[in-house]
Amino acid sequence: MTDNNTLEGQVALVTGASRGIGRATATALANAGASVAINYRSQREAAEELAESLGGAGAGVALVQGDVADTAQVASMVEAAEAALGPVSILVNNAGVTRDGLVMRMDAEDFDAVLATSLRGAFLCSRAVARGMMKARSGSIINISSVIGRRGNAGQANYAAAKAGLIGFTKSLARELGPRGVRVNAVAPGYVITDMTEGLTDEMKQTILGNTPLGRLAQPEDVAAVIAFLASPAASYITGAVIPIDGGLGI
Ligand code: NAP
Repeated sequence: MTDNNTLEGQVALVTGASRGIGRATATALANAGASVAINYRSQREAAEELAESLGGAGAGVALVQGDVADTAQVASMVEAAEAALGPVSILVNNAGVTRDGLVMRMDAEDFDAVLATSLRGAFLCSRAVARGMMKARSGSIINISSVIGRRGNAGQANYAAAKAGLIGFTKSLARELGPRGVRVNAVAPGYVITDMTEGLTDEMKQTILGNTPLGRLAQPEDVAAVIAFLASPAASYITGAVIPIDGGLGI
């Protein structure tokens, strides 16, 4: 890794880092030299195991429990992360859930839950770190959108709305914070092998693979590497971008 990719001296907060893409992202950021606050909602054991694998508390790692959709919990999460590691300079808004169903049959609660986690969560966490980043005149916020936010998907209107909303949020915040030296970008992964996609049937997987020029699903590390790049000085002139990481599925 060249100096331009180093994250030495940076403090990252990764939401939903106990599993999947968040876990791989926390690992990639730590490997690039950042101190990392690992947020999780319920799976403490998985989060602790990740913290151990990164060297344990005291080695630039902190565990911060909290629901990203809850204003008070986000405030205490950020406070705890900053008390342990210092001012947050990288925020990865990764926490997300699915509650799939056709619109005709979708409960309003399932619509709200998906938007609350992805979209409201990204808003609350970004707002909580933005002042510090603006003061420091540097910082990087990375939001996890999805190919579904760009193209839509029958059975996932709530998820598509949340992920499309994140694209508008990213571009607006990039405009607001750019003059203060803070960059805001999004990535739009295709299908990544995690708990979230565990329920895909073989038939669905075959259809997806047939439409993916690179002919495979993504590993969480495929996404984490691009996030680490966006957080690094190598990406210092990139803001407001939405980078597909989908093997060509969204072409
Ligand atoms: P995952 O394996 O299901 O993990 C979800 C993570 O989010 C877990 O760490 C979970 O914490 C956390 N979380 C959920 N609700 C939360 C809340 N309210 N507050 C704090 N943390 C919360 O998911 P993934 O596949 O890694 O997905 C990560 C992100 O990438 C999501 O935003 C997802 O929409 C997006 N994405 C995924 C794919 C894919 O194919 N997998 C594709 C495109 C985009 P606990 O473990 O404590 O429950």
